[in-house]
Amino acid sequence: MKAEARSANSSVESLAFVALGSNLGDAVQNVRAAIQRLAELSAAPVRVSSLWRTAPVDCPPGSPPFVNALVALTPRPGETPESLLLKLQALECEFGRVRTGARNAPRPLDLDLIAFGDETRCTAALTLPHPRAHLRRFVLQPLSEIAPDLVLPGQTRTVAELLAALGTTERLERLT
Ligand code: ADP
Ligand code: MG
Repeated sequence: MKAEARSANSSVESLAFVALGSNLGDAVQNVRAAIQRLAELSAAPVRVSSLWRTAPVDCPPGSPPFVNALVALTPRPGETPESLLLKLQALECEFGRVRTGARNAPRPLDLDLIAFGDETRCTAALTLPHPRAHLRRFVLQPLSEIAPDLVLPGQTRTVAELLAALGTTERLERLT
C-alpha cells in the first residue's frame, strides 16, 4: 500500500461517525441544522454525506419516512465516546426530542454514535461500534459516501463491502 493511502486510512479510522435521523417535523431542516451543530463539535472540517429519504425500519405502523445522513467528525483533544454521546443526547433534546419510552417512536432528531476511532464499548448506555450499524442500509449507504474503505471495529469487511452484501431491500432515495 502507498504511504499516502495508509495515512489516509489511519486518519479515517480515528474519526467519530454519527448517524442522523429525523422523521418528525421538517426532517430535512432538522438534519441540516444538526449537521451544522455537529461541525461545531469537531476539531477539523467534517465529512458529510448526502441526505437520504428512507422507509422506516422496525417502527410502529404508519411511521413517517426518515431523513438520514452521516457525519464524520474529528474528536477534540480529551473527548471520549462517553463525553461525545452526552453532547449528542443534549442536541437531541435541543431539537425537541422527548423520550416517551415507546420503541422507535417518531423523533425530530436521533443521533447515534456509530463508531469512535477504534474504541469499543459494551454497555446498555453505550455500545460501540453501534450494534446494528453494519446491518442497516440507512447507515451503510450514507457512510459509504464518506468512508467506503472504513473497517468498523469487529468487522472484517469494509463499509462498501458490507453495503454490497446486504440482503435487505429497504427503499432509499438520495435527496439533492
Ligand atoms: P434508537 O437509536 O435505537 O432508536 P434511542 O435513540 O432512544 O434508540 O437510544 C436508546 C439508548 O441507546 C440511549 O439511551 C443510549 O444510551 C443507548 N446507546 C447505546 N449505544 C449507543 C450508541 N452507539 N449511540 C447512541 N446511543 C446508544
Ligand atoms: Mg438513537
